[in-house]
Amino acid sequence: MKHTKKMAIIAGYFAGETYGLLGPQMAATIIEEHTPYECIVIAVDRGDDKTLLKKALSDYFGAHEPTVGFSTLGGRQDLIDLAKELKQEGAVTILAGPQADTDFRGEKEWRSYPHRFPGLSSSFSFALHGPAEQIVPFLKEPRTTLPAGPGFLLTGKKGVILSNAKKPWDEGFLTRVRWGNLFRLDQGMLTNHPVATAQVLQQIGCPHASRPRQIEIDYPVSMQKVKKQRVQLLLRGCSFCDVAIDKGFHGVLDREKVLAQISGLPEAEDGRKIAFELINENPLPGLPHILTQAGERDLRLSQVNLTMRADWLVQGEKQLREALAIARKMRIRILLSSVGFESFDDEILKNLHKGSTVETNLLAVRLMRRLKELFPFQWAYSKAEGAVHGFIHPTPWDTKETAAHIGKAMDMYRLASDILPNRSVPLIIHHASSLGEWIREVETREKVRFERYGSVIGWWEEARLSP
Ligand code: SF4
Repeated sequence: MKHTKKMAIIAGYFAGETYGLLGPQMAATIIEEHTPYECIVIAVDRGDDKTLLKKALSDYFGAHEPTVGFSTLGGRQDLIDLAKELKQEGAVTILAGPQADTDFRGEKEWRSYPHRFPGLSSSFSFALHGPAEQIVPFLKEPRTTLPAGPGFLLTGKKGVILSNAKKPWDEGFLTRVRWGNLFRLDQGMLTNHPVATAQVLQQIGCPHASRPRQIEIDYPVSMQKVKKQRVQLLLRGCSFCDVAIDKGFHGVLDREKVLAQISGLPEAEDGRKIAFELINENPLPGLPHILTQAGERDLRLSQVNLTMRADWLVQGEKQLREALAIARKMRIRILLSSVGFESFDDEILKNLHKGSTVETNLLAVRLMRRLKELFPFQWAYSKAEGAVHGFIHPTPWDTKETAAHIGKAMDMYRLASDILPNRSVPLIIHHASSLGEWIREVETREKVRFERYGSVIGWWEEARLSP
């Protein structure tokens, strides 16, 4: 479509990285193919000078009305402030991406509880939750009114948030990504940023989040009394997971759609496709077929990155061995870039509702190491090879016993040498996650309040507000 207008999508990023941004870049591709808007994606790290960025945006838009989408903010206050400034200066600012709806709306009942997260509606013109193509009618029409279609959230009278249910995902929009549309701020200019690792979407959401379950989660250790207290919750997926809440489980894409995405990946200097992460929490059952089909279609792959759960890794050993044998023939590397171990203590795994156990985690570790001996050139899994496995610590349930269990597993299995990341990630409670429900229930029952850090709820002692 001929482009007569301009739009930019700003997304959070990390300095020194070269990964692509599937969601924003796919959205920009849809916008360029279906609307009169040229659309670039600007990856912004915390260190980028926001004054220079605003100047670069002003140069990019020129006389065009600025329309700026924001995605993958990751709670970054610098980007939220930037959105607010741009909105005040007359730009249309759109909050999109994961948790756009819950972050725009704010935390449950925040008007009655002033310490809760009030949402981001004042920083954005509106929000869009769900498939990117929902924005197409709004961008195609002369924009005299606010958007009213599926997926939009707007601020109505007296600050009331009006929202429309999102459309279901349409696979027809999920096959093309213009990977060359990523830009970074470099010496005050927007400069094309080549992508060295891309993503290929095979699954939307996570099967672990496919059906609700009733579980009990322990109180934080610091608040336990003599009799152990728990909170009952109805949840989907892991209790800390925002993917589970944001997307649930929408199933797996048709394999032809996956191969179409692979076919569209850029090539590196050696003529092979750049490395890509296969987005699928349970990728092993279909992996041999995808590799075989890619080979038959002369798609010269270089590396496939997998992110998955420990239990599905163990269950998929047969298919993984098959995939590695194919990879050997095709001279491809399979990097197990992240396994969500999360903990090596069963009580903590239970409270995280991981649906996995320490025993399974250790079976997975043994399998990862064994495969390295069998497929040394095709298989990579260790932190030295670029993997960053999930390990959540500290948590609200840490005790001497949990520390002893984790320490024992670390020593016996030498986990620090190849498995555990150099730095663990503390438990982060997003206000809309299941643990958000849990901590609000603890607050109500115990008449305490925990500090909010933007969209994140503090659970540690220092976050407890005085009555
Ligand atoms: S953390 Fe991983 S396994 Fe758990 S619900 Fe989220 S995506 Fe699924």
